[in-house]
Amino acid sequence: MLMKKIIHLSLLLILILSCVEQEQVSATPTPIMQQYQLVAEVVTTKSGKVKRGEGLFQVLGRIGLNDQRALDIINALSDEVEFSTLKVGDEVTAFYNPEGMIKAFHFSQNLVDTHQLKKENGSWVYSFDQKETVWESRIIEGELKNNSTLQDALLDQGLSTSVSNDIVSILLCKVNFRMNARAGDRYKVLLKERKFGKHIIDTTVLYTSYGGRRAGEHETFLYEDTEKSSTYTAHYTEEGEALIRSGLRFPLSSMHVRSNYGWRRHPVTGKRAFHRGIDLRGREGRSVFAVAAGEVIKSGFNKYAGNQIAIKHRDKSTSYYFHLKNRAVKKGTWVKAGDFIGRVGSTGRVTGAHLHFGFKNSKGRWINPLNKRMIATPKLSGDRLDQLQLQITEVKSLLAQAETRKVKNEFVAMGEKEIIDEVVNEELRL
Ligand SMILES: [Zn+2]
Repeated sequence: MLMKKIIHLSLLLILILSCVEQEQVSATPTPIMQQYQLVAEVVTTKSGKVKRGEGLFQVLGRIGLNDQRALDIINALSDEVEFSTLKVGDEVTAFYNPEGMIKAFHFSQNLVDTHQLKKENGSWVYSFDQKETVWESRIIEGELKNNSTLQDALLDQGLSTSVSNDIVSILLCKVNFRMNARAGDRYKVLLKERKFGKHIIDTTVLYTSYGGRRAGEHETFLYEDTEKSSTYTAHYTEEGEALIRSGLRFPLSSMHVRSNYGWRRHPVTGKRAFHRGIDLRGREGRSVFAVAAGEVIKSGFNKYAGNQIAIKHRDKSTSYYFHLKNRAVKKGTWVKAGDFIGRVGSTGRVTGAHLHFGFKNSKGRWINPLNKRMIATPKLSGDRLDQLQLQITEVKSLLAQAETRKVKNEFVAMGEKEIIDEVVNEELRL
C-alpha cells in the first residue's frame, strides 16, 4: 500500500511537472520556433493553435504550409481525425529538416492524444500516440432550487457547459423542462471521466435520471457499441427505446466525418469550393442505408459523383448518396427508413472510399445534413439489446457502490475514511 502510494505520488509529481511544462509552452506566442537535436539532424518545429473562427487550413497556413502541403496533410489525417470536432486551442506542429522540407506533423486536441504523420519514402505514415490515463466514475446529484434550471444546477456542480448541455439534451426527450420542472425535482447523473493527473480529458455520460411531481420519473442508460463511432452508441430507456423517436436514420452504421459541409479545399483539385454535403468514412463495401422512407428518383452514374442515388421523401426533402461501389435500388423504387440501398465505394472524383451524403430541404436548397436529427434505430433489438441490459447492470452496480460509499463516509473517522475512499475508488475505476 505504502509503496503504491509512493509510486502514485511520484507519478503525480511527474504529471504536475509535465503540466507546468505544457503551460509554459502554451504561454509562448504562436507560431513558435524551436530547435531540436534529433539523430544528428537539426529539425525546426513550428507550432500553432486553432483560434476562434479558424479552420485547419488557416492554422496550417500560419505555420508555413502552402495550400498543397496543407491539403496533403488534411487528406492523410481525414480517416483518423474527426475534423467536425475541431475546436479553439487544438494544436498543430510541423517538423522541418534543414532544407525546409516538412518531415513530420503532429495534431492534438487534448493533453494526451497525438495524431502523428511521418514522411516515409515520399508518403505520409500515420501513427497515434497516447499518454496513460485512467477512467474514473463520478456521481453528480441534487435537487433543483427555486428559479434554477437543471442546466444551472449542473454548472453549479462544476460540470462543463458541454457536459451539462449533453445531459439536458438527453433528458429533454423525456422531460418538458419549460412546462414541468419544479423546485425540489431530483436529478442524478453517472459520469465516466478520463483523467490525466487532475485534468479531465473526456467525459462520458453513462446514466441520467430526473424525477419530479410534474415531470414524472425518468432514467436513461448509455448503450456503448463495440464499434468505434457507432451510430448506435447513444442513450436509451431501460427497455432499449431511443430517446429521440423520430429523426432521419444514419446512412451508415458508424459516423466519422472526414470532411464537413461548407467552404473547404477540394481534396482532389485543391480549389476552394462549397461542399454540398458531408464526407463520411466508410470502408469499401460497407452498407449504405436510406435515411428516411421515400421514392428513389435517381440511381445512376456520373464522372464526379460516381454511382449515385437520390431519394425523395414524403416532405419533399431529398437525400443524396455519392461514390457508391454499387447501387441496390432502381429509379422508381419505394424504400423504407433504414433500407439497404448500396455499398460504400470510390467511384467518381475521389481520393479514396467514402460516402458523400447530401441533403436538400423541401424547398430544394442544400442544407448541412448534420443539422438534421439522426437516430440509429427507434428501439434496440437482438444482440444490441442484450448488450444494453448487461451495461445497465454495470451502471446499477456502480450506482449502488457509490451509495455504499456515501453511507460508509458518514460513519468512519477521518483516518479510516481515506483508506475506504481509496478502496472504493479502486472498485469504481473502469
Ligand atoms: Zn463530398
